[in-house]
Amino acid sequence: MPEGSHAFQVGSICCTVLTDGYDSYPTEWFFANADPRSVQATLEGRGMPGRSVLSPFTCLLIETGRHVILVDTGAGSASRTSGAIGARLEMAGIRPCNIDTVVLTHAHPDHIGGAVGRGGRPVFSNARHVLSEFEFEFWTSRRPDLSHMRVPHELRTAMAPTARTALDVLRFQIETVDRETEIAPGVRLIPAPGHTPGHMALLVTSEGHHLLNMGDAAVHPLHLEQPELENGFDQSAAIAAATRRELLSRAVAEGMQLMAFHFPFPSVGWVAAREEGGWSWSPGW
Ligand SMILES: [Zn+2]
Repeated sequence: MPEGSHAFQVGSICCTVLTDGYDSYPTEWFFANADPRSVQATLEGRGMPGRSVLSPFTCLLIETGRHVILVDTGAGSASRTSGAIGARLEMAGIRPCNIDTVVLTHAHPDHIGGAVGRGGRPVFSNARHVLSEFEFEFWTSRRPDLSHMRVPHELRTAMAPTARTALDVLRFQIETVDRETEIAPGVRLIPAPGHTPGHMALLVTSEGHHLLNMGDAAVHPLHLEQPELENGFDQSAAIAAATRRELLSRAVAEGMQLMAFHFPFPSVGWVAAREEGGWSWSPGW
C-alpha cells in the first residue's frame, strides 16, 4: 500500500484508511472548557506540542465486493496539505469514477471539501452522496445557527457558504437519510448528533467483526480519556458529549474497533473503559 494509506479487513469487507493531510489548531479550540495550562501540560507530558494540536484528516475506503464506498472526502483545497484523496485512491487502484457511494458524516469543510473539484464539479461523478437529512436542511437553511461554536467568528462564518456551495454542486447526487440506515450490506449510518445537528457515525459489520467510524464525535484521544472535555467545533457541546459516551460505551460493550477522522493517523484503534472513568485509546489493528 502507498504511504498514507493502510488496508485492513473487517470480516470479509476490505477497509482502507487514507490520509488527506492535516491542519494545526490552537489547543483551546479543541478543549474549549478546559484550563489551557493543564491541557498544555498533559499534552507536553506525552511528548506532543502543547499550544497547538496537529489534526489529521483521515478518510475511509470500504470495498464490500459489490460496493465501493468513500467515507468523507477530506478538505480539498481548503487546507494547504489537503486535496490528495483522488491521488491516494488511484494509488490504491481506485479511480474517482469507481466510487459508487460517498458518505458525508457531516458537511464541515474538512469532510465535504474533497467532493468538489477545482472547476466546481463533483469529483465522484458516479456516486450517490449520502448524508443526514437534518444536516442537509441545516446547512441549506437561510441562516444556520453557529453561535454556540467556540472557535473564531471568521472560521464559523466561513463554514456555511462552503457547505452550501458544495451541497449545491452535489445536489443531483445527494441522498438523505433521517434515521439509522443500512446503506449497503454490512454498512450502517447511525445518527450521532452534537458536533453538527445531522452528524452521523458509520458502522461496518462483517462475520462478527465491527468497525465504528465515529467521525468527529471525538477529535482527539484526550476526549476519550476525559469525555467531559468540550470540542470548540461542536455545535452543541452537551449533545456531543452524550453522543460520545453512547458511541464509546457501545464500542466497548460490542468489542468494536474504532475509527475517528481526526485522531493521529492511521486513526484506527481500540477503546477500553478506564477504572478512573473515561476510555483509553490503543491505536492499531
Ligand atoms: Zn472534522
